[in-house]
Amino acid sequence: PRNPPPTLHQPELWSHDFNDFISRCLIKDFELRPNVLDLLQHVFIKQTVGREKILQKQLIELTDLNQHERIHTKKGGHLKMQSAADEVEDLATLEALDENIVTEQLQSRYSRDQIYTYVGDILIAVNPFRKMEIYTPQHTKMYIGAKRTANPPHIFAVADIAYQSVVSYNTDQCVVISGESGAGKTESAHLLVQQLTVLGKANNRTLQEKILLVNSLVEAFGNACTAINDNSSRFGKYLEMKFTCGGTVVGAKICEYLLEKSRVIHQAVGERNFHIFYYVYAGLADRKKLAHYKLSDSKTPKYVDRLESLCRRRPDIVSNAFYKEQFDAVEQCFKVIGFTLEELGSVYSTLAAILNSGDIEFSAVASEHQTDKSNITNMSALENVASLLRIRSDELQEALTSHCVVARGETIVRPNTVEKAVEVRDAMGKALYGRLFSWIVNRINVLLRPDSQEAEKGLNIGILDIFGFENFKKNSFEQLCINIANEQIQFYFNQHIFAWEQDEYLNEEVDARMIEYEDNRPLLDLFLQKPMGMLSLLDEESRFPQATDQTLVEKFEDNLKTKSFWRPKRVDLGFGIHHYAGKVIYNAAGFLSKNRETLPADIILLLRSSENELIRKLVTHPLTKTGKEATLLLSGFCGVFSPDVWCQPSALGLNAPYHPRETTNMKTQTVASYFRYSLMDLLSKMVAGQPHFVRCIKPNNDRQANKFDREKVLVQLRYTGVLETAKIRRQGYSHRILFANFIKRYYLLAFNAHEEPPVTPETCAAIMEKARLENWAMGKTKVFLKYYHVEHLNLMVQLT
Ligand code: ATP
Ligand code: MG
Repeated sequence: PRNPPPTLHQPELWSHDFNDFISRCLIKDFELRPNVLDLLQHVFIKQTVGREKILQKQLIELTDLNQHERIHTKKGGHLKMQSAADEVEDLATLEALDENIVTEQLQSRYSRDQIYTYVGDILIAVNPFRKMEIYTPQHTKMYIGAKRTANPPHIFAVADIAYQSVVSYNTDQCVVISGESGAGKTESAHLLVQQLTVLGKANNRTLQEKILLVNSLVEAFGNACTAINDNSSRFGKYLEMKFTCGGTVVGAKICEYLLEKSRVIHQAVGERNFHIFYYVYAGLADRKKLAHYKLSDSKTPKYVDRLESLCRRRPDIVSNAFYKEQFDAVEQCFKVIGFTLEELGSVYSTLAAILNSGDIEFSAVASEHQTDKSNITNMSALENVASLLRIRSDELQEALTSHCVVARGETIVRPNTVEKAVEVRDAMGKALYGRLFSWIVNRINVLLRPDSQEAEKGLNIGILDIFGFENFKKNSFEQLCINIANEQIQFYFNQHIFAWEQDEYLNEEVDARMIEYEDNRPLLDLFLQKPMGMLSLLDEESRFPQATDQTLVEKFEDNLKTKSFWRPKRVDLGFGIHHYAGKVIYNAAGFLSKNRETLPADIILLLRSSENELIRKLVTHPLTKTGKEATLLLSGFCGVFSPDVWCQPSALGLNAPYHPRETTNMKTQTVASYFRYSLMDLLSKMVAGQPHFVRCIKPNNDRQANKFDREKVLVQLRYTGVLETAKIRRQGYSHRILFANFIKRYYLLAFNAHEEPPVTPETCAAIMEKARLENWAMGKTKVFLKYYHVEHLNLMVQLT
C-alpha cells in the first residue's frame, strides 16, 4: 500500500519524491487541489526546469479533464493551475456564463496585464493603452508551433493557427479584426503581420521588410487624427499575404475600401487631415524644398493649419520634428518597396497641388447680365496648382469658374456661382487624393506581387482591418457607409458562428440546443435591398436634378417601413437607425452631393492633358490589368458593372448569403453603388477562406491605461456577440473528425498496432472510453469533440 498523502504542512516530505507526492495529492481529493497547486508553485521554484514536462504530463493524466483545469507554464518554470473558481483563459470553458461573469473575467485578467482572452476560437483583445512587454522576440518564438494551451492567449497564437492551417490543410485563411474606433484593430493587424512574416520566413529578407513597411506607408495616407483616435484608419484595409504550399511568404496584396476623402477638404472640430499632408509639409520645409513645391512656410496651407486644442493635448504628435521624422520614414518606405524617385516626386507634387488648391478662393462678381459669377481672388494659388499639376492655369481657371451645358446641340458656357466653384475645387481635391491613394496601393501590389509560378500555387492569409462602428454627435454619409460595412461584417460573423455551427449539428443529427441570436439580416435588407433599400433610394434620388436632401429624407420615410428606421422629432434632415451596435441618429445634409461625387468633365479633360504622367494616369486608365481588379477600378472611375454577380451563393460560398433581390444595371456610378460593390467583393474574399476572429475591446473612452469601465466593455461584448458566442462554443464542439480519420489517428489507444478495427461509431466510442473522455458526441459521420479532448488524445498517443 502507498504511504498516506503528505499533508500540506510537511514540506520536508515533498522533496523526497516529488512525483509521488504530486500523484498522491492529486488523486486524493479534488477539493484539496487548489491548495496543492498553490503549493506546487512554491515547490516548483526549487525544482529544476526539466521537471516541468513530467509534472505537466502527470497533471494532465491525473486530473479529470472535464473539470477544465489547465496548466500553463510561466517563464522561469513557475506553474499555475487554473481551477474553475479562478480566471480562465478561454471563456467558453466557464461553467456558468453571464454578462457579469464575462466582464469580471476580462477585468480581472486585464488588471494582471492579461489583455488577451479566448472565447472558443475567437480572441478578445482589450486595449492596454500602453506599451506591453509581450511582443518581444522571445514571445515570437514562444508562440511558434505551440499548442494553444501551452501559452497565455495572444494575437501571435492567432497568427500561428492561421499559418499552421495554411501549411497543414492548404486552405486560405482570413483574420477578421473588429471593434470600435480606437479599440486596437490596426495594432492587432500589425502584430499579425509581424508574426506572420517571421513564420513565413521569406527567402529574401527584403520581401519580409517590404511587407512590414506596407502597413506604415498606407497608413500615412489613410489614417488621421480624430476625436477618438490619434491614428484612426479612415479606410478599410484587407491585406493578403501570399504563401507557397510549403509556407514561405512570397508576396502581398492590399485592397482598400471607402477612403474618407471628404477629410481632405474638411475636418470636424478637433480632428485633422490625413497624416501625410503634415508630414510632407514639414518634410519639404526641412529639405528647403518648399519653394519647389509651391509652398511657403510663412503661410500655412489651409488644409494643414494647426488646431490649437490638439497641439496642447498631444504636443508630441503635432510637432514639426515629429512630422519630419515621419516624412523621412515614409520616404524610406516608398524607396524600399520599390517606388522610383520620379514617382516620388510626382506623389509630392500631387499632394502639394492639393494643398495649394485648398487656398484657391473665390468672390462673387456682379455683372450686368449675370449676378452670380465668381472670380478667383488669389491667382497665385491657382498658378501654383496649375504648375504642380502641369496643366494650363487659364484652363484651370475656366474649369473652376464655369461649366458647359449642351442645349439643342449647342455647347454653352455658363459661369459658376461661388458656391459651385468651391464645390468643383473641393471635388478636384478629393478626387485627386482618392485616386492617388488607389494608385499607391496598386503600385504596392505590383511591386509585391509574387512571380507567376509562385502565385499559381499560392495560398493566402488575409487580414481585415476595417473602421469600427461609429456614433458621433453628428453622423453623416461617411458614418452611414462605415456602419453598413460593420453591419455586413457582423452578419458574416453571425453566419459563421451561429448558423454554420447549428447547420453542422443538424446535418450530423447531434443534439444542439438552438440558440437565439440577434439576426441583423433585416437591417442589411433595409440598407442594401433593391430597389427599396436605403442605398437604392439614395441612388434614385441622386439621379433627380431637382432632388434635395430634404426630399431624400422624405423618400426614406415614405419607403422604409420598419421599426429600425425612424424620424426623430425636432432634428432637421435627421433620421435614426437602430443598428446591431446601437441607435444612431444621422443627418442627411450633404448626402446627395456626397453620393454623386461628380468630378466635372471639364476638370477630367483638363487633367488628362497634364504633362505629368502620374496625373494623366490618375484620370485615365484603370490601374491594374487583371480582369476583376480592372472592373473594380473602372467602376470606381466611370464604368458600368453588375454587382450582383458577387452576391450569388456560389461566389460567396455561403449557405444562406445575403443578396440583394433584384438586378438593375447601373448606368451612373455613385458612391453608394460602388460601396455596395466593394462590400460584396470584400465578402467574397472573406468567405473564400477559413475565418478567424479577433474582437478588439476598448476598456475606456479616455485612452487611459489600467482603467476598465465595465459598462463600456459590457456594451461592446453585447453587440459583438461575444456573449452568445461563449454560450454556443461552450455547448459546442470545436472539433469534428470523420470516423475514419479519427480511428486512423487514435486507434492505438484502444487496439493493438496490427489490428484493423472497423470504421464504425462503436470503434470511435471504444477509443473514447479507453481515453476516459466524456462529454463528446457522436454524429452521423463524425465524432464531435471539444478542443481539450483533442489535446488529451494527442498527448496520449505521444505517450503510447
Ligand atoms: P480606428 O477604427 O479608429 O482605426 P483602431 O481599432 O484601429 O481604431 P488602433 O489605432 O489600433 O485602433 O489603436 C488605438 C491606439 O490604442 C493605438 O494607437 C495604441 O496607442 C493603443 N493600442 C492598441 N492596441 C495596443 C496594444 N496591443 N498595445 C499597446 N497599445 C495599443
Ligand atoms: Mg485603425
